[in-house]
Amino acid sequence: DMSLYRAKESGRGRAVEYFKALDEERDRLSSLEGQLRAAISAGSIRPVFQPLVSASSGRICGVEALARWQTPAGSVSPEVFIPLAERAGLIDALGMHMLEQAVKTAQVWPGLDLSVNVSPIQLCNPSFPSQITDLLQREKFDPKRLTLEITESVLMSNPEMSRRAMDTLRKLGVKFALDDFGCGYASIGALRQFGFERMKIDRSLVWASDDEGQGSGVLEATIALAVALEIPVTAEGVETSRQAQLLRSAGCQQLQGFLIGKPMSSAELEMMMKAPEAVA
Ligand code: C2E
Ligand code: MG
Ligand code: MG
Ligand code: MG
Repeated sequence: DMSLYRAKESGRGRAVEYFKALDEERDRLSSLEGQLRAAISAGSIRPVFQPLVSASSGRICGVEALARWQTPAGSVSPEVFIPLAERAGLIDALGMHMLEQAVKTAQVWPGLDLSVNVSPIQLCNPSFPSQITDLLQREKFDPKRLTLEITESVLMSNPEMSRRAMDTLRKLGVKFALDDFGCGYASIGALRQFGFERMKIDRSLVWASDDEGQGSGVLEATIALAVALEIPVTAEGVETSRQAQLLRSAGCQQLQGFLIGKPMSSAELEMMMKAPEAVA
């Protein structure tokens, strides 16, 4: 390529190196995009399930479905492929596939609630409410057992559309959780404006409670806020019994984290449910 040749000739070797690295990064991403497209069509993005337990009894009351993508070169994190799917116009297909798999799997766990993450883009798709309605009817899944988790960043890009979709689904009995509260985006305004049925405290806030200083005060104040607004709270990222104890005494009703269980296959979850003891 001529421009590369000229750059070399004029001694701009470092610029050439830089642009080469950019090209490689772009190629890597576009090939990852191609692989993701294929993986979605093949149905090979699969949910794993992380248990949610009652803070008081330690018993499993629900699960959060989390997307997993295994490639021959290893697993790709949802922190990478979810944003990629959003940019590539693949999130509607990926999201509906996840919802369908999660609903079908959780169908055989009648006592458990199911939480599924929903991207902003899905929520603003005009056919989203009817797709969910159809899915729940087809699978005979009680809408009252379904919670959709969303982050605020989503809502603010199109508040009217988001609100309308939420209200349509609420009429069926579907609930909404504000995800990642306390990590920068989620605010008190969103909690009230969109009428969330649950607040999920971001793991960074839970972990900050281990630090010297104000971490535990901030966590307690956040839970106190939810209590004042009469919104039940789930804390995510609970890794130690010290954190669980602090959360419990601050009034948090539901715990999720590696202390209780990592995201797992449906078979592993069924084994865990057979264990007679409480888990946290
Ligand atoms: P999230 O919805 O906030 O999910 C919680 C994340 O925290 C999960 O990461 C979970 O594995 C992790 N986690 C839970 N407890 C602990 C703990 O005790 N310690 C540590 N270190 N981590 C813990 P994961 O599965 O990597 O998912 C990351 C994010 O990707 C999710 O955050 C969610 O925003 C997004 N995501 C995952 N699946 C889907 C999906 O099907 N659709 C959409 N739209 N987003 C998804
Ligand atoms: Mg979530
Ligand atoms: Mg979260
Ligand atoms: Mg998160």
